[in-house]
Amino acid sequence: MATPRRSKAAPATRLLKAYDAKRDFAKTAEPPATAKPRKRSTEPIFVVQQHHASRLHWDFRLEADGVLKSWAVPKEPSLDPIVKRLAVQVEDHPLAYANFKGKIPQGEYGGGTVYLWDRGTYTNLMAGKGKPLTLSESIDAGHVEVDLHGEKLKGAFNLVRIHNRRAGDSKPNWLLIKAKDANASSSRGPQPAGGSARVPAKSSKTTDRKTDQRAKTRGHVKPSVPASQATDDVLVPSARSFEFTNEDKIWFPEVNVTKGHVIQYYEAVAPLLLPHLRDRPITLERLPDGVRDGAPRFWQKNTPAHYPSWVPRFAFPTERGKPVAYTLVNDVDVLLYLVNQGALTFHPFLSRTASLDRPDYVLFDLDPGDAAFANVVKIARAIHAALDAAGTPNFVKTSGKSGLHVMAPWAQPGGYDAARAWAAGVAEPVVKRLAKLATTARLKSARGGRVYLDVVQNALGHHAVPPYVLRATPTATVSTPLDWDEVTPKLDPKKFDLPRVLPRLRNLQRDPLLALTTG
Ligand code: MN
Repeated sequence: MATPRRSKAAPATRLLKAYDAKRDFAKTAEPPATAKPRKRSTEPIFVVQQHHASRLHWDFRLEADGVLKSWAVPKEPSLDPIVKRLAVQVEDHPLAYANFKGKIPQGEYGGGTVYLWDRGTYTNLMAGKGKPLTLSESIDAGHVEVDLHGEKLKGAFNLVRIHNRRAGDSKPNWLLIKAKDANASSSRGPQPAGGSARVPAKSSKTTDRKTDQRAKTRGHVKPSVPASQATDDVLVPSARSFEFTNEDKIWFPEVNVTKGHVIQYYEAVAPLLLPHLRDRPITLERLPDGVRDGAPRFWQKNTPAHYPSWVPRFAFPTERGKPVAYTLVNDVDVLLYLVNQGALTFHPFLSRTASLDRPDYVLFDLDPGDAAFANVVKIARAIHAALDAAGTPNFVKTSGKSGLHVMAPWAQPGGYDAARAWAAGVAEPVVKRLAKLATTARLKSARGGRVYLDVVQNALGHHAVPPYVLRATPTATVSTPLDWDEVTPKLDPKKFDLPRVLPRLRNLQRDPLLALTTG
């Protein structure tokens, strides 16, 4: 296969400006940008240098555009496809650097000793794809596939850019991962790789291709010193990192769903869920030992001080004036970090931080208590009819437990008070007409077996269950958007559990509740 090696667009001298600027060639024996490589191979080369600098790391370099594209890998590259190595992209190095070994003086950039760890040629596997890419184009695209012909590193490797850069980070983070092929090996003993990564419950249809492939580590390895203390060319990454723990632990014993399945679930639904969480102060419902009798379960409003600094906080006092640093869940890293901390259900405000007093939507919360679910359906349909008649768009979802949520975007003037008053005005005639089935009485003893139609949650400081979150039920049920056609006396909200909801959500073309997220 022909491997494109150079592109005319990027002269090496320009690419090597950063390399030159970092080094004083009167002091270091490293080759300057102008150095000519000793010998050229017809195939592009790769080299891995073990660099004993202030922190030991491996410099992984691939020839492209007349330079060595370079990544600093804090741990030894592995032939095990399960092992994902952080690879921090660093400045391009001259081709002649492939032959460099020896000492870099202390006090100079990268001071320490460089050993040749592995070298050889490589084949750019992206050149053979349907849309062929040069190596540089693959780097730009954030996905590199190469076949390495080295002494230690043999076979296909992937470099995948991870999207967790923070503004101001100049060095993109990648993962270096061995692809599965004849050269792959396991470094983890006898258990089958990914063997625990399937959702076991219900039907075989629920296993899916993505769940087997997920990285064990989110972000990257934990830095042991802050970035500011890094002195060589490894920028110690800026801390957006954690490892998933106890993934095999059973979280829902009744349906054999593990913590790993829960992480996978939330990763899969993140694109749908995040718009409902973003910029809303969130109360976390945490069950760090899973959903079982006697296991700890608590509500967490205040973000613990030991949570990483990249988990955003929003200060907002409680009704009694106690200061609270609410967690904001604005991206998938934070979402999965919290899930790993045992957060099972996320309960956001109905409003966002920029317009705290104005809810994005109005919630009609139908709680059956001791009533039959068919009565919940009747009342939901009555509200639906009332809202339709008023020309107000309206949506329905399961609460994830025993009730239904009917929601309407709040498009009128005014904040929570106006929204709550409006909701009460919609609810009142429904409750009057279906007085034997529905009540707005808060006290359970006063409900008399009727469905509780609750509109008082439309208030600042209150939170609601958003769509797509798991609930703390024995069968891992999910708050699931429904089509109004599905809201019939036959509707069974227990059907919407993790194994059965995942394929349904994957088939969604778009979030049916997106209109509730924009205000
Ligand atoms: Mn280095």
